[in-house]
Amino acid sequence: MKSIAVLGSTGSIGTQTLDIVDRFPDKLQVKLLSASKLSDKLLAQIQKYKPEYVYLPKKEDIKGVNLLYGEDGLKEMADLCIDLFVNGIAGINGIKPTYLLLKAGKRLATANKEAVICLGEVVGDRYNGIIPIDSEHSAIFQGLKAGDKKEVKRIILTASGGPFWNRENLDGVSVEEALNHPKWKMGKKVSIDSATMMNKGLEIIEAHYLFGIPYDRIEAVIHPQSYVHGVVEFVDGSMIAHISPTDMRIPIGYALSYPDRWEIYQKTANLWEYGKLEFYQPDEERFPLLKLAKQCGEMGGAYPTVLTVADEMAVEMFLKGRIGFNDIYKVVKGVVEAVDFPPPKTFEDIMEIIKGTKAVFNKVVSVF
Ligand code: MG
Repeated sequence: MKSIAVLGSTGSIGTQTLDIVDRFPDKLQVKLLSASKLSDKLLAQIQKYKPEYVYLPKKEDIKGVNLLYGEDGLKEMADLCIDLFVNGIAGINGIKPTYLLLKAGKRLATANKEAVICLGEVVGDRYNGIIPIDSEHSAIFQGLKAGDKKEVKRIILTASGGPFWNRENLDGVSVEEALNHPKWKMGKKVSIDSATMMNKGLEIIEAHYLFGIPYDRIEAVIHPQSYVHGVVEFVDGSMIAHISPTDMRIPIGYALSYPDRWEIYQKTANLWEYGKLEFYQPDEERFPLLKLAKQCGEMGGAYPTVLTVADEMAVEMFLKGRIGFNDIYKVVKGVVEAVDFPPPKTFEDIMEIIKGTKAVFNKVVSVF
């Protein structure tokens, strides 16, 4: 029996993690649930999974569990004896728990790419034991097992291209259109990031930190069918591709079962049902956030964090109807060009960069 903690339990990754717990009640036991706030959904989960602990940012009245809350509660959580912490928190809110869990040497499976990116410069050397949940990174994680790291020539992350990869004019795109991802069922933030292709930019940076591979050996390719999730190319010319149905429960399930494999997907996926698999070079002119993300990754220092924070805020503004779809790039670029933070050396430095970026963002966005 593996005990697990599900952080972000009411979100997209969290609920799909619990789907897998339902399938394997003899293998997985939920020991802790955590969400950003108390909700009926969380209460229903508490009733169903009966976790020993619940973590919430604020104190609440919940019966029958040990409630951990606030800053102290977060530290207590990171000290709990739990076999695997699943981080399904969306966005930069996941930074502190990720940092504390890594510092405490806990086994972590994470879908929280923003935290991986922002903490990369400071605790990237502790990323070795992380099991990635992001589908592309799960694919690369598995592909890397086919050879030695020094034999890796390139890693290739696939991108569905989102809803607009072959649409010429992106002026006046509505929130509904941008949220309408053709292949994946995901949270709002990552759906918008997929539509701008920022998601792939962030994933390149995430891959750099997770696998310690230099940027000139990480590539993105558009693959609209989304059956190939990632490819590891070795020096002998062999390319090991990970192919699976487009279902997040597969990478989540792998993270939960690792190093074993369980029968996560019961149907037989016939290759002929996939039909044609297409691959295209991404157009960085039409998706300039992809290019900007790569530049920020290569600049390193504070830039990956600045990019991540600015994008999260810009996406929120877009979802609220405050700025247009194409403004997301303009605002993020404006912020990246306006900042000048020294490279972070500590966790506190990262928090300062986040604070500073938010201030610069508010200034930049005020003229939109
Ligand atoms: Mg992904």
